Amino acid sequence: MAAPGRRTGVLGGTFDPPHIGHLLAALNVRHALSLDEVLLVVANDPWQKTAERPVTPAADRMAMVQAAIEGLDGLVASDLEIGRGGPSYMVDTLAELAAADPGGERFLIVGADAAAGLLTWDRADRLPELATLVLVDRPGIECDAPPDGWPLRRVEIPRIELASTDLRARVADGRPLDLLVPPGVWSVIRDRRLYGFRSS
Ligand code: ATP
Ligand code: MG
Repeated sequence: MAAPGRRTGVLGGTFDPPHIGHLLAALNVRHALSLDEVLLVVANDPWQKTAERPVTPAADRMAMVQAAIEGLDGLVASDLEIGRGGPSYMVDTLAELAAADPGGERFLIVGADAAAGLLTWDRADRLPELATLVLVDRPGIECDAPPDGWPLRRVEIPRIELASTDLRARVADGRPLDLLVPPGVWSVIRDRRLYGFRSS
């Protein structure tokens, strides 16, 4: 088991697929806040998204996140929400991490778009007691300050206008993902023929 009293960053996401925007956020927050590690927590059932579109099976998204963090110090692919099953609620994830390391500190990392929707998350009122909020900007997305009383840090990261939605469209169109995702992620997409990938 990991040493107690750790400073742990938590970047939750659908990661459908993971891309360099996610990695830049995780790496730069880890550096800026001297975190021991940043967990990329793969949502099992991202209930706010599954209502709108088909989401790639969790096992495929987990395989891509594992490939994404390869060789990057301090980043961890977490299957905590997949192991728990069912709809993924960040409040349960943070509570589980707190129970596993009561002396530790948790930092919930969110991009501006996710921050704008924070109050729609399940049991959002309980989040502030479980983690410090860390806000990173995304190009073109304005974000209001979070609710009063929630400990907040803002971290500047290189801004990269990239979203998984664009990447899924690129694959479906036959365009390459080179340099937009780590090579290992691109390999998983091609090997498993995700997002309608066709070899030409
Ligand atoms: P989609 O287009 O499918 O919504 P996404 O690129 O927004 O995908 P998510 O898995 O929804 O990726 O995002 C997980 C977390 O990563 C969110 O907090 C989101 O704000 C953040 N994030 C995603 N892309 C970036 C980026 N380019 N820069 C900074 N943060 C990002
Ligand atoms: Mg998103």
